[in-house]
Amino acid sequence: MPIPATRTRFAPSPTGYLHLGHAHSALFSAAQADSDGFLLRIEDIDPGRCRPEFEQAIFDDLAWLGLEWQTPVRRQSDHMDVYRRALAQLQDMNLLYPCFCTRKQIQDEIAHAGHAPHELPSGPDGTLYPGTCRHMDAGERAERLAIGEHHALRLKTDTAAAMTGALTWHDRTAGEQHAQPESFGDVVLARKDTPTSYHLAVTVDDAIQAITLVTRGEDLFAASHLHRLLQALLELPTPDYHHHGLITGPNGKRLAKRDSGATIRHLREDGKTPAEVRTLAGFGDQA
Ligand code: GLU
Repeated sequence: MPIPATRTRFAPSPTGYLHLGHAHSALFSAAQADSDGFLLRIEDIDPGRCRPEFEQAIFDDLAWLGLEWQTPVRRQSDHMDVYRRALAQLQDMNLLYPCFCTRKQIQDEIAHAGHAPHELPSGPDGTLYPGTCRHMDAGERAERLAIGEHHALRLKTDTAAAMTGALTWHDRTAGEQHAQPESFGDVVLARKDTPTSYHLAVTVDDAIQAITLVTRGEDLFAASHLHRLLQALLELPTPDYHHHGLITGPNGKRLAKRDSGATIRHLREDGKTPAEVRTLAGFGDQA
């Protein structure tokens, strides 16, 4: 079967019930796809927060909304070997280093460098890593690895960006973008508790699933700069992007999983029909 011209995906994490913001994102994604081109991916790399009942609820709620997706559904926790291979590729390019720091040590290190809390250098994922473990003496690093000390793997982002040279990507609303991955600093690509990270897994999976158009909320716009760098390093294709606006709650803030009143489940139990929920999510049915 030929690959459909526009293949999109909705990629929720099963860490809570889906809300109207997710409904918007899923409906938006499905609306952009050509027929048979809408995929679903379960992003469950976080062992502490993901639950099977939330995964089942994703399937139930999306089907109730009237969505259909291609099977099989890719579940990230089933593919840790794939992410390990991508890390090995980056390791071979000498672009990763182990980081043993705890969150507290990072904060202390930054405070020590004399920054006031309001002027901490920060990027799209929060405070920038001060580089402590990057500059660690090779002997100490080897010793700590030899005793099996828990560590994350960080990318030498500036070195990686220098290696690839200037990169661009395209967003269907914002237009041509010059990738600026350096704003993330030395980002974590494998966490201490799981052998990957959101950034690595999503980039690898979009390529494996032959996604041609990545649709997601504009809160993840900056992430695409980093994903573009990872694509170049791992020799993966670059899809087109469409970052959509976010649905807000009555307080004007974007919805979060804790806003239980806005969950699809709650609205359904409250007697709303799928058509009504689609309308609430900004996708009223055309007459
Ligand atoms: N799993 C991410 C989330 O639930 C979405 C990732 C993406 O669409 O790139 O926020």
